[in-house]
Amino acid sequence: MPNAAVHATIRTDRLRHNVHVLRTRARPSALMAVLKADAYGHGVRTVAPLLQEAGVQAFAVARLHEAITLRQLGIEGLILVLAPPTSDELSAYTAHRLHASVTSVPVARMLATATLDAPLPAHLNVDTGMHRLGLNYTDVSTWWTRLHQASSVEATGIYTHLATADTPDHPLNATQLERFADVLRTLHPAPAAVHVANTDALSHLSTRLPPDAHYVRAGLGLYGLTSIPAPTGIADSGHALRPVLSLSARVIHTHTVPEGETVSYGAQWTAPRATQVATLSIGYGDGYPRAASGHAHVRLHGTLRPMVGRVCMDLCMVDLGSPTSALAQRTSVGDRAVLFDAAGPTLHDVARWSDTIPYEIACQLAPRVPRHYC
Ligand code: PLP
Repeated sequence: MPNAAVHATIRTDRLRHNVHVLRTRARPSALMAVLKADAYGHGVRTVAPLLQEAGVQAFAVARLHEAITLRQLGIEGLILVLAPPTSDELSAYTAHRLHASVTSVPVARMLATATLDAPLPAHLNVDTGMHRLGLNYTDVSTWWTRLHQASSVEATGIYTHLATADTPDHPLNATQLERFADVLRTLHPAPAAVHVANTDALSHLSTRLPPDAHYVRAGLGLYGLTSIPAPTGIADSGHALRPVLSLSARVIHTHTVPEGETVSYGAQWTAPRATQVATLSIGYGDGYPRAASGHAHVRLHGTLRPMVGRVCMDLCMVDLGSPTSALAQRTSVGDRAVLFDAAGPTLHDVARWSDTIPYEIACQLAPRVPRHYC
């Protein structure tokens, strides 16, 4: 890619590596790749076919239109929509051979009484304690039996989602897993697809997961990320997840800010002495978080340097030190700065600086940022 103002690089070799690592860890469960929100900002049009080629046969998305996009991309395997269907969407589910989530008693009733061309494969989402979506765990066995008897539904799967998988010692993990295990014991006939774990649960709760789960629903790990960052400085044994996404921007201006002058909106940063400042062509309009202002660093010519002043919509500024420093002398328009990559700063660092989670940093990468797949 020519020296673009800003670009994201997606390492497809790392994506394949992460698929291999997750499948190995998940065994005997299979991998259900979570590709919602444009594959967490990585670009579903490239990611989904690549995963299918790598042998992934099950996928999950948040919304119906994301599932239809997957079919249009030629994805053949199981596609589960995590959001509840509405009655006017049911024909699209059957036309595209999608699996629906049954997230409440009204949704279960609607499916059980629907008139459809073909039975709709359905997975019962069990609310074991997250209290977001799902049938209360005490109602599940009744509805599992009723859905089995309904000709409009093929009761295929059952799943739950853990609220605290990123905090392995949290007591809610045990509570949710016990409730789910109790539900599983009551189901007749036994479901063909049981799934619980996300990336963090697979990494940190694997011994406590149902031993007979058929799938692990992993999103973040595919992209080489976890909520709990892997310790740095430990050699990659080949089994570690590897970050897929990196982000860089071009230096489009350099100048000396005199001592006592301020930089950017709100005049939040004052030059303590004459300072060489580089302006980068990236801002919150590209998805780089404004909340990182005052904390963020970038890598320029191998050196970590602080951003100064507030991140703007299209621009941000970096302190290069004294105008006579080696870095200031060396830096000119056209050079590239790394906002995040595996060498650092990492995407986790950006999440920490902006008081958010890695999911949000990846998902909010704006459509105007060109993605370069290599
Ligand atoms: N399952 C459900 C219901 C989810 O909402 C998500 C993501 O938010 C996932 C699985 C994937 O989780 P992760 O990206 O942490 O692996």
